[in-house]
Amino acid sequence: MATGAHQLHVFFFPFMAHGHMMPLIDIAKLFAASGVRVTVILTPVNASLFESTVDRSKAAGDPIEIRLLDFPSSETGLAQGSENLDYISNPFEAIRFYKAIEMFERPFERLVEELHPDAVVSDMYLPWTAEVAARFGIPRVIFNGSGYFSLCCLDSVRRFSPEKSVDSDDEPFLLPGLPHPIEMTRTQLPDLTKTPAEFAQLWQKIGKAESMSYGVVMNSFVELEPDYVEHMENKLGKKTWHIGPVSLSNRATIEKADRGKKASILVDECSIWLNKKKPNSVLYVCFGSRCNFTTPQLAEIAGALESSPTPFVWVIRETQTLPDGFEDRTREKGLVIRGWAPQMAILEHPSLGGFMTHCGWNSVLEGISSGLPMITWPAFAEQFYNEKLVTDVARIGAGVGSKRWLMWGEEKRPVVKREAIEAAMKRVMEGGEKAEAMREKARELGERARKAVEVDGSSYVDLSRLIEELKSMRPPSRQTSDG
Ligand code: UDP
Repeated sequence: MATGAHQLHVFFFPFMAHGHMMPLIDIAKLFAASGVRVTVILTPVNASLFESTVDRSKAAGDPIEIRLLDFPSSETGLAQGSENLDYISNPFEAIRFYKAIEMFERPFERLVEELHPDAVVSDMYLPWTAEVAARFGIPRVIFNGSGYFSLCCLDSVRRFSPEKSVDSDDEPFLLPGLPHPIEMTRTQLPDLTKTPAEFAQLWQKIGKAESMSYGVVMNSFVELEPDYVEHMENKLGKKTWHIGPVSLSNRATIEKADRGKKASILVDECSIWLNKKKPNSVLYVCFGSRCNFTTPQLAEIAGALESSPTPFVWVIRETQTLPDGFEDRTREKGLVIRGWAPQMAILEHPSLGGFMTHCGWNSVLEGISSGLPMITWPAFAEQFYNEKLVTDVARIGAGVGSKRWLMWGEEKRPVVKREAIEAAMKRVMEGGEKAEAMREKARELGERARKAVEVDGSSYVDLSRLIEELKSMRPPSRQTSDG
């Protein structure tokens, strides 16, 4: 391991939302485990969530530390402590939140001035980090929280506007120029007319910062989406490194259970419950950290779960209400978790047989890493594209028929009826040749995911390539002890 003044030193700056922080901190830990000196930049509230995971890495002898920057809550009218998108409940507060994030530019610049890192790896939503890095003549690598497939879809839509070729919102159209025939409808695309101007400006800044950045580090593995890695690098000309699934770097149970936000149930408690169920039988139902379904929608899900023979673990928010008596009636076959579940640990349990997901990229990857087929229920962000990767390209899942993209925080989504949920559950969880084939494919893909991150696997090799490139970009005076 390299030590001393000229060890490669990289700053990691995550965007403050769980789905962004967890994978970037996993990446930071992977760098540190490879002997790179790592500084993770966090705000106090987020540091309190992540310090135990960073401390474990440090205790293992890895050169990693946290530096704090204060969050400008009061300056932007946000409540004290609202330092994570988790605490933001609607798009209007989200605008303030993004304004607060922009105010980190100067403090970040001072930190770069003080510590002289050799490179910065920062979330795409912190575009000004590219300008700061450029001012100091160091490379900035973008962390983009999604996969290759969705980025290629997004590029196709931006480039060709295929939604203009149809007459109605529900008429399907193909996304041009992609390796597979991918069909979407207008209702599944972001409604730009509803996007606040502030977000449109943010997207412009993100685009500009991309052209100033050295490349994009991707939480994906090439065996999952080989045509899209090729498309993005060769057709779209983007420099990328695929180093995932990075969650697999968490090997001990404590690491899987404690990846930031504290779970509201012990892993042991989940295991005791899951151990009583047959292998591959349980459906895990969870819609990520930000998706909020209405009470009528929860009632339809409850109806489907109650009438199906499939045992389930269902994660809901503390504030959500289930139909009267649901938990009593389903006590034998169902475990309801209120709050935050130790998702990774649950998905890896041998009793798990499927995952009903909103198709957030981390959840999709975690489902794939555990070799599970999925029931897809996209809601916002790039989730509709992720669904297509699961159902139409990898063919390891079936959708409930979610058709309407809505901005996160909007609740006027059409309710998906229990019959549609039951039908998707049957296709994925119950017997039959098609379900078996899907299950087998998912299992194989899970194996490939795990191989990718092992020594000499595709993701392991790409991570080493990225680290070597960053080392070689240092000025000659700093290219000493670690090559
Ligand atoms: N997660 C968790 N427990 C929960 C809900 C979510 O551990 O109760 C984790 C999940 O494992 C994943 C992340 O939170 O790593 C959610 O990220 P994703 O991209 O799937 O969705 P988002 O929350 O960003 O919409």
